[in-house]
Amino acid sequence: MTYVDLVLEKLSTDGDREALVGGDTRLTRSQARDLLFRLADGLVRRGVRPGDGVAVYVGNTPEAVLLNLAVHLLGGRLVYVPPEPGTAELKALIERADVAAVVVDPSFGTQVDGWHLQDLPGNPVERDPAPEFATVFYTGGTTGLPKLAVHPSRKTGLWETRASLPPMNLLSNTLITHGSGAGATMTALLTGSKLVLGPSTFDADTFVRLARDEQINMTIFVPPMMYEVLDHPDCPGPQFHVMVGGSPLAPKRLRQAIEKWGPVVNQGYGMTEAHAITMMPASEVDLDRPDTLRTVGKRNPLTEVEIRDGDVWVRGPFVMEGYWGEPPLSETSDGWFNTGDMGYFDDEGYLYLNDRSKDVIVTGRTSDNVYSRLLDDFVVTLPGVRQAAAVAQPDDALGEVVHLFLVTDGSDVDVDRIRASVVAELGELYQPRGVTIVDQLPLTKVGKVDKRKLRSQFR
Ligand code: AMP
Repeated sequence: MTYVDLVLEKLSTDGDREALVGGDTRLTRSQARDLLFRLADGLVRRGVRPGDGVAVYVGNTPEAVLLNLAVHLLGGRLVYVPPEPGTAELKALIERADVAAVVVDPSFGTQVDGWHLQDLPGNPVERDPAPEFATVFYTGGTTGLPKLAVHPSRKTGLWETRASLPPMNLLSNTLITHGSGAGATMTALLTGSKLVLGPSTFDADTFVRLARDEQINMTIFVPPMMYEVLDHPDCPGPQFHVMVGGSPLAPKRLRQAIEKWGPVVNQGYGMTEAHAITMMPASEVDLDRPDTLRTVGKRNPLTEVEIRDGDVWVRGPFVMEGYWGEPPLSETSDGWFNTGDMGYFDDEGYLYLNDRSKDVIVTGRTSDNVYSRLLDDFVVTLPGVRQAAAVAQPDDALGEVVHLFLVTDGSDVDVDRIRASVVAELGELYQPRGVTIVDQLPLTKVGKVDKRKLRSQFR
């Protein structure tokens, strides 16, 4: 039995209940079930067989959710295609992924050729789900092409646990082809929830409207999205539980969210290569204990987590098998994977992340580490500062120096005052040499602050 069996069980009861909402489309459970089988039939008629790779270049629509499910139903290897980079890179990535088929939604993008999602549905032929399938996620890619992280359909019992939770009205704000959106989609389907898909590119106005009109009681954010909602003039009051993760969450903003919505903000730490590493449940965050606002929580009981030379290493069923086209982790490192995040545990087993190792700024005559994240978190506590991102600027004398990008709340911020506060709190090493005030920070297509883009201004 896989999660697809459990989802089918849900879609086969209470057929008139709403299951999927996105754009102008609203599907009940029985309509979703019907379209799922039609899409699977369309793939089979075109020659897709169990084990085949199927690349999907799609945005956040109910049809795309069902397409992905159909590939898993057929026992395929579902390959998500990133929303960027350019046409040639995407073509190379798809070639590398060794797929039998490519399905595209032209309303999402026209950079990739393939069968059009809209033309795919065949007959509603009922099929039993295949016992195994795989999912291939694209990484953010540090240089050049994204890598392809392969996750097989390991059985952990977690699907059954999730399927026993009550249904929700869940608004997913991240792309369904990225880890967090894919995870949210699976949770919604397993719990028989109404899944409301935010647009493929997040916007806070739409969020506010959907939260109200669809009576949302659970939502999933990457931190910058949550900040935009908190800063929105019509930010909703308490009505939903929140799952947030995917990039660093500033303690000040977490506090603000809890003050606004109540003790309902859960934080998860994971990555494309290793899902669900730790979790900090809302019930364990205590506004009187600042450390509980900084930690990413305790490890998933099914995942081993070790700190080696300051880096976080992980192993377990939620860690990828390996990168496509490379030897599996089981052969190269006994299943262990270095996350590239630097962190430490406290005595009670709570994990704290200092920074991503590539975001650390190495500066000074003795090449000391400035944890950019620590600086970001501190600077947003200063008056007038809404968002902050510190990055390395190359420097002939010191190797790198700190450059700080700021988004203000519109008031005049005194840069010298900020510098002085940083030195007083974090020491001379953290002093930003340059400060640039911007209207907004650049975000990646999945909504995270794009420090790579900020750094590239100096190259
Ligand atoms: P991605 O593979 O694009 O999902 O990015 C994963 C990276 O995002 C991780 O390696 C972390 O650096 C960062 N990240 C994810 N969740 C959190 C979190 N809760 N707090 C801090 N950083 C996070």
